[in-house]
Amino acid sequence: MAQQRDVTVFYDERVLAHHPDTNEEFLPGRLDKRVRSILSGLTVQWKYPEHPGRITAIMELLAREPIPGVRIEPGKAATREQLGRVHATSFLEHIFSLRNESAWLDMDTTAVSPGSIEAAEVAAGTAIAAVEAVVEGRTGSAFAVVRPPGHHAEPVRARGFCLFNNVAVAAAHAQTVLGCERVLIVDWDAHHGNGTQDIFWADPDTMFFDMHRASPFYPGSGSLIDVGAGLGEGATINVPMPGGAGDVAYLKALREILVPAADYFKPDLVLVSAGFDAHWLDMALNVSYEGFAAMTGVVQQIADKHCKGRLAMVLEGGYNTESLSRGVHAVLEVMAGGGLTEPQACGIAEVDTAIEFHKGAFAADNPADE
Ligand SMILES: [Zn+2]
Repeated sequence: MAQQRDVTVFYDERVLAHHPDTNEEFLPGRLDKRVRSILSGLTVQWKYPEHPGRITAIMELLAREPIPGVRIEPGKAATREQLGRVHATSFLEHIFSLRNESAWLDMDTTAVSPGSIEAAEVAAGTAIAAVEAVVEGRTGSAFAVVRPPGHHAEPVRARGFCLFNNVAVAAAHAQTVLGCERVLIVDWDAHHGNGTQDIFWADPDTMFFDMHRASPFYPGSGSLIDVGAGLGEGATINVPMPGGAGDVAYLKALREILVPAADYFKPDLVLVSAGFDAHWLDMALNVSYEGFAAMTGVVQQIADKHCKGRLAMVLEGGYNTESLSRGVHAVLEVMAGGGLTEPQACGIAEVDTAIEFHKGAFAADNPADE
């Protein structure tokens, strides 16, 4: 068992006030086929796939099965200035004009209800709170349990359930206010973080590493050849994956691409856009709880090596509440110093057992040969 570390979960219940209802009259006829298919697969009461029950499932599991070393602190709302470091003024004015309203923000997935704008401000501000605690040394590492998620939100556009780009707002705050020079953002959500990529596309001081299910899959961006531009060329790293990819492929990419990239970049803060929709119970890929745990081990080692363990996770997607809550729990256990087991390719352990069981059964000459 590794040494116990203190981990702070940042959570603010104002993020629960964002709950668009796609059955309501104000949202007539705007649901495309993809959202309808997500909704038809939901076994919960919510009418919008990115619903408050995602967060309550995580917090309830943490209350039921507390992890030694993990404590919970409240979040806070981001200011207009903090959001303005990564979003355009015109975009912020449009979003703020929707306070207390219900509306669609894009053609496919993103809607708001009364309470949504404050929830989005709190999601971004809570990511900032997590980064402040880590950089100021008040906690070993941190996890911002927030929604709406952020990584699809572009400088001038809300998209894919995301209003403000929480992880980007946190990275910009670390660089502008907290004295961090180089920030590494690892995005292991099943979907490509198009918004984060756009925001830091030409920025050499923010390295963006994104593993995701390859196009054709939402949002369609993130090809291998997208590496950034200008001074930022090379600081964007995309690893598109086929739908069946799981633990072994994820860990190989982290160890053989991310680790050497981080050794070159030498971050002074590591952020993770932590989505859990790559779990096999969700919809996109084939990662297990042991896989998420081992992935956490890799990013923790990077943080330990380069920046005194400074690691902050920011929640992104994950729509199956079972795999979402269990996935977050598995990650927190590792952040708190829990033991790791190396995930195997699925079925290999069982085949090894079967080989042992059947060993010798066919050693004798086959009587049919006689
Ligand atoms: Zn996702």
